[in-house]
Amino acid sequence: FRFSRRPDIGDKIRVSFEFFPPKNDEMEARLWDTVTRLEPLQPKFVSVTYGAGGSTRERTARTVNRILNETTLTPAAHMTCVDASRHEVDAVIQEFAGMGVTRFVALRGDPAEGVGAAYRPHPGGYANGAELVGALKGAGDFDISVSAYPEKHPESPDFATDIDMLKRKVDNGATRAITQFFFDNDLYERYVERARRAGIYIPIVPGILPVHNFTQVANFSARCGALVPAWLAERFDGLQKDPQTHALVASAVAAEQVLDLVERGVGDFHFYTMNRADLVFAVCHMIGIRSHEAETAGSAAA
Ligand code: FAD
Repeated sequence: FRFSRRPDIGDKIRVSFEFFPPKNDEMEARLWDTVTRLEPLQPKFVSVTYGAGGSTRERTARTVNRILNETTLTPAAHMTCVDASRHEVDAVIQEFAGMGVTRFVALRGDPAEGVGAAYRPHPGGYANGAELVGALKGAGDFDISVSAYPEKHPESPDFATDIDMLKRKVDNGATRAITQFFFDNDLYERYVERARRAGIYIPIVPGILPVHNFTQVANFSARCGALVPAWLAERFDGLQKDPQTHALVASAVAAEQVLDLVERGVGDFHFYTMNRADLVFAVCHMIGIRSHEAETAGSAAA
């Protein structure tokens, strides 16, 4: 169960990128600049989130549809089952399937009031991520990713309960887990070992969050139970008003984390892009993922 290089990966590193659906025209323009910049890196898929309480259903669908119709990328639609009946969730699955979506990221979701609010399953709904996976599996031949929490989900009383939920999602048909972001690679490694010991063999892909704004990341981490190590705070100390140095440090921090994971045998990475390309592009470059266009331009100049 140790981190030996998995034979199916070989030396090829594969990446996926996560976007959120834009709220207005300005954000939409920024997202499409980002998509255009990252598309030549040929990610395995790009995923589009689904807002708290299912609040972005239409915007998620519109974004996924645009990716399908205007790019060469393969979209994965996030879906949640919070605050929705089974009938409503099944209708959303059919809507996505009708567009040609073949990949999903299946989540329980958080209540509309946001992370930290008490979760109550909809009386006629799917109760958790595992039940949603089951619904997707029954609806078609989809590639289904689910969440995993290297520091355990804040609602899990212990790691055993947390891993048990992951196991239920796998048993229902999940083929990949994507982790919550984390900054301490030892925590990730320990979690994967726990999962393997529990008989979970699907890829557990690390979710990497490049730190665009340390203060925001620290606040958000506190709410979702991810540890911000003292050394990380130290690195960004005093840089709030120096965006240029902040970005250089963020790129170095993310590259360091990813390269260490590569050393440990990890071959797949999921990047939380925050709809911004710069840091993700730089880190991908560091792990040898090159833009197809750049190669063409380089060989033409040679
Ligand atoms: P589940 O896998 O169903 O459960 C998570 C954990 O909670 C389990 O490990 C389990 O131990 C514990 N748990 C659940 N129910 C109980 C219970 N009754 N008693 C005790 N413990 C319990 N949110 C969105 O709204 N939209 C998104 O697009 C989105 N994308 C995400 C993508 C990734 C990769 C990740 C990691 C998270 C994402 N989230 C998203 C956040 C996610 O919805 C929240 O973390 C939510 O609180 C849990 O959803 P889940 O699918 O992980 O839950």
